[in-house]
Amino acid sequence: TLQSFPVVVSRCWSQAARQRYHVIVVGGGHAGTEAAAAAARVGAETLLVSQKIQTIGALSCNPSLGGVGKGQLVKEIDALDGLCGRAGDWAGIHFSILNRRKGPAVWGPRAQLDRQHYREFIQSELLSTPRLTLLEGSVEELLVTEAKPDEPGQHRVTGIRLANGSQVSASSVVLTTGTFLSGSLFVGQNTMPGGRIGDAPSSAGLSHTLRERLGLRTGRLRTGTPPRIVKESVDLSLAVLHPPDGTPTPFSFLNKHTRCKPEEQLPCHLTYTTPGVEKVVKESLHLNCHIQQDTKGPRYCPSIESRVLRFPGRQHQVWLEPEGLTSELLYPQGLSMTMPPEMQLSLIREIPALHRAEIHTPGYGVQYDFVCPTQLSPALQVKSTQGLFLAGQINGTTGYEEAAAQGLWAGVNAARQALSMPAVTLSRTESYIGVLIDDLVCRGVTEPYRMFTSRAEFRTALRPDNADLRLSLKGFEEVGCVSSERYQEALRVKNSLGEALAALQDLTMSTHKWRKTLPEVHISDAKAAVLSGLAVLQYNQVSYQMLASCFPDVLRPFSEFSQRLKIEAVYKPHCDHQKKEIERIQKEENMSLPQDIDYFSLPVSLSQEVREILDRVRPSTLGAATRLQGITPAAIVHLLNYVTHRN
Ligand code: FAD
Repeated sequence: TLQSFPVVVSRCWSQAARQRYHVIVVGGGHAGTEAAAAAARVGAETLLVSQKIQTIGALSCNPSLGGVGKGQLVKEIDALDGLCGRAGDWAGIHFSILNRRKGPAVWGPRAQLDRQHYREFIQSELLSTPRLTLLEGSVEELLVTEAKPDEPGQHRVTGIRLANGSQVSASSVVLTTGTFLSGSLFVGQNTMPGGRIGDAPSSAGLSHTLRERLGLRTGRLRTGTPPRIVKESVDLSLAVLHPPDGTPTPFSFLNKHTRCKPEEQLPCHLTYTTPGVEKVVKESLHLNCHIQQDTKGPRYCPSIESRVLRFPGRQHQVWLEPEGLTSELLYPQGLSMTMPPEMQLSLIREIPALHRAEIHTPGYGVQYDFVCPTQLSPALQVKSTQGLFLAGQINGTTGYEEAAAQGLWAGVNAARQALSMPAVTLSRTESYIGVLIDDLVCRGVTEPYRMFTSRAEFRTALRPDNADLRLSLKGFEEVGCVSSERYQEALRVKNSLGEALAALQDLTMSTHKWRKTLPEVHISDAKAAVLSGLAVLQYNQVSYQMLASCFPDVLRPFSEFSQRLKIEAVYKPHCDHQKKEIERIQKEENMSLPQDIDYFSLPVSLSQEVREILDRVRPSTLGAATRLQGITPAAIVHLLNYVTHRN
């Protein structure tokens, strides 16, 4: 239990001092907790070392999970038996599906979280995970030797050295140091070492091992966080109320309900900046060293300073979000800032709803080292160092979901390597996690990487609703990170959906009869003379329930899946087409690519980056092109179509 936490930790410490582990995970943030739990699920004796036990699972910045693109990652992590989806269902206090006006493939499940409940859930899950030991401590250095002659790379990691001088050995180490690697915090003109407010940075020794001993290329990134505001000092009547969805939708495929009841959910509020905000930003620029160093800031979570400097004269959105069920604080999303605290107060008071607001904790910025992720394999292992895996913000990403997704996959592979099992990969065609990892290791990052649905070429197939079918079966059968309980459930869903789709397909009638059966639906004349139930379900006005009430004997048994079946029906033609294209690529592996192609002038939709790679390498076959780093499946489809027509 959480009450016995300190006892467990001290007992763990004495074990850790003498034992050798299969896997050591450094860092208890979103990447580290998923990595440790996944490694243990795969079967590895795992040690999670983090600077402070109390901050394991902490949400450093925004109290929310999911969103467009990010919600897809949470569903996939859950399908692979990860923690964050279930933690979100436990700690969520305001659930909504974003992007509802668009198709279900790009809906974004999202929740505001109670910070404390989220952390407690993650900690108690880790405490009850077999084969996992937690240890409070700071890792100062990686232990490294030369690789054996038969091993790839030049180095092999053998363990860690802690700040107290003790060493723990392991076959694999996963580094997930987040914003802590040589971290510096910025407020106004002050700079201090730190990974997050109240937390020391990771030691310089660790950066030194990575750069000097292992020869890894590193870079420096930055981000920031807003001040936390005292809730009762805010006049919420001057902001626009945003209620949650009436029925909360859980993230986890294992949950039918969220812990928070519909009526207990808390609202968010929306307000806007005023010209006064811009004035304070400009007046305080000379006192703001974080923004002076780089006025642009991170593209995806820009500070209010960068926003008003880039887009002067505009009103910017500010979301006032609850921090917890009983928390006295509000999180003003959109007001990340690094000016001196007294100027922060002046700035927020320029917004009508915040005209008497009090600041509980000022906003601040952070700068930290990241490792250029092109030095990693698709298993997230450092190519030059056997057994060393990196995940999370250290790879140049931003966001909890991106960190958690990498953590899970690095943990899986670290465990598999330690247990002498082959590495496993996820492709861009089967998951957003595959897209994320492929983007990182093939393209690298120049600014903090964030997931968007537009990054996934096959997004209509990679939907939040079907992540279990895409990943839970593979996760159990091939990867070993999924429990038998989840596997059985995914199998049941797969079989039921298969039966239901077959029943819909077999339900054929003439268009005339369909019109009589569903008089309220305009069934077009252009469609075939005979239509299946599946084709009729594709009509906007037709729901599965409508069909089930007309054909109760055949369809009622599958009513539990009515929403999923509607989505399957809508996307089936498109997904079938994509599947055929992928199969076509596989079949045409040996197709020759003419050597005289001018890739820069090809009249097909290819990015400049793809054209440059193809021009530089000039692959001789389609198969060779598919294996090039940075070439997407969509680019291969375009290339295949072009060459087929040219021939
Ligand atoms: P973290 O969550 O940072 O966890 C790292 C963990 O490693 C910590 O537990 C730390 O104690 C531990 N650790 C570090 N070094 C050692 C060591 N040597 N030994 C032992 N343990 C160690 N994300 C957004 O998406 N939007 C934002 O606007 C945003 N703003 C942010 C602002 C700030 C100020 C900060 C600090 C973070 C912000 N983030 C933001 C980033 C978000 O917090 C991260 O994306 C996410 O937490 C990354 O997860 P992680 O697991 O990689 O690292």
